[in-house]
Amino acid sequence: MFNLYYFLHVYFLSKEIKYLCTKFINSMNQGQLLKIAQEYGSPVYVYDAEKIASQYNRLTKAFSGVKTLKINYAVKALSNISILKYLKSLGSGIDTVSIQEVQLGLAAGFTADKIIFTPNGVALSEIEEAAKLGIQINIDNLSVLEQFGTKHPNVPVCIRINPHVMAGGNSNISVGHIDSKFGISIHQIPHLLRIVENTKMNINGIHMHTGSDILDIDVFLHASEILFDTAKKFKDLKFVDFGSGFKVPYTAGDIETNIEELGEKLSAKFNNFCKEYGRELTLAFEPGKFLVSESGNFLTQVNAVKQTTSTVFAQVDSGFNHLIRPMFYGSHHDIDNISNPKGRERFYSVVGYICETDTFGSNRRITEITEGDILRFKNAGAYCFSMASNYNSRFRPAEVLWHDNKAQLIRKRETFNDIINNQIAIDFNVKKEKQTVKK
Ligand SMILES: *Cc1c(COP(=O)(O)O)cnc(C)c1O
Repeated sequence: MFNLYYFLHVYFLSKEIKYLCTKFINSMNQGQLLKIAQEYGSPVYVYDAEKIASQYNRLTKAFSGVKTLKINYAVKALSNISILKYLKSLGSGIDTVSIQEVQLGLAAGFTADKIIFTPNGVALSEIEEAAKLGIQINIDNLSVLEQFGTKHPNVPVCIRINPHVMAGGNSNISVGHIDSKFGISIHQIPHLLRIVENTKMNINGIHMHTGSDILDIDVFLHASEILFDTAKKFKDLKFVDFGSGFKVPYTAGDIETNIEELGEKLSAKFNNFCKEYGRELTLAFEPGKFLVSESGNFLTQVNAVKQTTSTVFAQVDSGFNHLIRPMFYGSHHDIDNISNPKGRERFYSVVGYICETDTFGSNRRITEITEGDILRFKNAGAYCFSMASNYNSRFRPAEVLWHDNKAQLIRKRETFNDIINNQIAIDFNVKKEKQTVKK
């Protein structure tokens, strides 16, 4: 007899097993991480190169049905120069959002043709600077498009369209809605076409990025139809760029974008579109989180275990100055105690040392914690170090890359000099006037 509960049980169990398998195959082990914390100190970010490569290969494989695929890693997710060089060695290009990221990419050895610049709300001069370097620019504002096209009609430009399809796991990272500041609205296409006609500029690419955490493939495919319809209005396209927003699992049983299914369905749609368009175009993506999130481990040391009437706090040598996602987005990061992986499980609230509430995780089941233990935060590759600050005048952590079975330091821990370096101390002479007491 068909039993729904039994079916659901098996379904979720198989999902869990699949998740655990990918974890085992691709993760560094706890012992290796512990050694790194002992050697390089804490807090420290550790990235597993193997995992970045396997995600990169998974993505290219999913879209192997497309003739020309271009992957431009979104630098803002994790911008260490060695990570960029590693992605370059895999064959990736990069997507940048500031002229500094462009410069970082060039410093990492990317040639201009491997870089796309997709800023939002920057000065025209910054876009011109990137274009002058030969970087593909992507414009998402009609006023800027008109100014740029008037001044530089010969520079090919990609346009970022907002298809107004709701996607995204969190209102802060969902960028496709009607009042979003991102992209040129599909309702403004007639105006856009008039600008292109008047300036005689060359539109060589069309782009969308609907936000992070795509949960529903059909929503994404629906947006792609809108993008294809828009693309048909431009005769000289070289590429169609679908941005990113692929969701990765943050904990066992968590939903993730089914990249294999998306690859199959979108590739078919794209190939059809190329036929109708009459030319083979390049299909481009700009994943950040998908490529680097799961490669990252953030290691912190427990300074104190503090028991209150209702809660046991584990206070670590870090805070939202180093990893802000839980406080900023309400994101979940799995936490485990790599110093005592086989211990008895208890419930803890893991908190930081910042002088404001900075809770990494409440009521987490973690193996018994002793002061001095190393706690590991998983999925700490994307938007973790790159959002770190010096708040509370703390040093930002060191970063280590695990590659070919060895650890290599890729960013030194900061020192007091990094805190004081750009500050200018003004001398205020203390006036030594005689104190006169008026009567
Ligand atoms: C941030 C960003 C991305 C990367 O998004 P992820 O969710 O990290 O994959 C891609 N394209 C643009 C334009 C972005 O701003």
